[in-house]
Amino acid sequence: MAGQHRCDIMKHNHELSHRAVPATTEHRAAVSDLEQLPFFDLGLIPEICERVTKIGYATPTPIQREAIPLILEGHDVIGIAQTGTGKTAAFMLPLIDSLLCSPPAKRKDEPRVLVLTPTRELATQIHEATVSFAQRTGLRAVVVFGGVAQRPQEREIAKGCDILIATPGRLNDLIGQRVVSIDSVEFLVLDEADRMLDMGFLPQIKRITAHLPRDRQTLMFSATLSHDIEELARRLTNDPALIEVGGRRKPAEGITQKIYSVMRLKKPELLLKLLTELSQGEVISDGEAVPMRTLVFTRTKHDADRVAHVLSHAGMNVTKLHSDLTQSERTRALASFKAGKFDTLVATDVASRGLDIEDITHVINYEPPMSPDDYVHRVGRTARAEKTGVAITLVSPEEEPLMRDIEKRVGAEIERTIVEGYAPPPPIEMSQAERRRLKGWSRR
Ligand code: AMP
Repeated sequence: MAGQHRCDIMKHNHELSHRAVPATTEHRAAVSDLEQLPFFDLGLIPEICERVTKIGYATPTPIQREAIPLILEGHDVIGIAQTGTGKTAAFMLPLIDSLLCSPPAKRKDEPRVLVLTPTRELATQIHEATVSFAQRTGLRAVVVFGGVAQRPQEREIAKGCDILIATPGRLNDLIGQRVVSIDSVEFLVLDEADRMLDMGFLPQIKRITAHLPRDRQTLMFSATLSHDIEELARRLTNDPALIEVGGRRKPAEGITQKIYSVMRLKKPELLLKLLTELSQGEVISDGEAVPMRTLVFTRTKHDADRVAHVLSHAGMNVTKLHSDLTQSERTRALASFKAGKFDTLVATDVASRGLDIEDITHVINYEPPMSPDDYVHRVGRTARAEKTGVAITLVSPEEEPLMRDIEKRVGAEIERTIVEGYAPPPPIEMSQAERRRLKGWSRR
């Protein structure tokens, strides 16, 4: 569909760049200028290529190289990509291109692109990237999510909304109240589709997609390709192209993974020791000394509170992020961590998916997460955009089976380090008779 709309300027560019013998010297200069632009060979119009150059993207990432031409040709796409692979630009650049190369919407408050994403943080991040990509194009992007007042979002939509980025709950409310109509949507993006299913958004997604025109282009992105994702893809897409970038369920190459074996009660102390050492040492990333910026993951909100309390009590420069905080507290914590006011953020998995916080040098798992996928998402917060990073997991003896499951799925055996004074107690050696006796006791 978008392929049919490819505009004249596009054809012109390709004629310029692909003609064997350009007619004049100026012509030749124009061709070679265009060919110098990164992303131009993917079929994007020069305005967009120039914009990404200004942003600082020198070459497309693998998912961008594969997805952009397919999206420009109008195909539905299912993208299986690890976190931090550049997938926002992979879908948003060709969609902006398609909007610019086709007639504008009849009503300025009816979006032509709809992006559904699971969390408010992710929605904000996609919105920020979109605003930056679409600068000076005249296109307006609006973000809506729950947990904050609705009126300002309504006003933003009324001002004009070509691209709507939304979490499913708030969007359904707005559709129900007729604040927004999605009748004119030509392009649907489901970002982090696996996460949306995990969070129980399937009924909401079904309700939203029931309102969408059938004649649309659909792009679905997911970190994993499960049976449920395939089912959703069958329902929403039409003859999709499948793109898979990097091995599934494996952390990025630039991540050094480490495990510290430690007794459970000693974890807060060991964490403090590691963070103190990290903040005193020089962190080297790609040959350069950079300030430490660490993300500590805990499984529960309670643990996040407790760990953040212990660390700040000991004088560490730490903030926290979890879903019990108000939206403004979450936004503030994230913004000040991003701005470098804090060097450590303690967070639950609400922060593990898709969040793009630049230059995280270390991820520390306070305990192994329950699923290997969560592990990949968590450690994927470091070493983004092909940088390097370190992922440390604190593992107590009772958590070893979980960790071994993770290692099996990521296909790597990770070396265990034991720090003197923190070693877990050795397993208790029991004779057969003692074991039998113990079983007998527990029955009584
Ligand atoms: P994403 O996977 O979309 O969250 O992107 C991860 C990070 O990579 C973001 O900071 C992007 O700005 C950055 N990025 C995306 N594409 C490129 C590119 N082609 N070159 C350099 N950085 C990029």
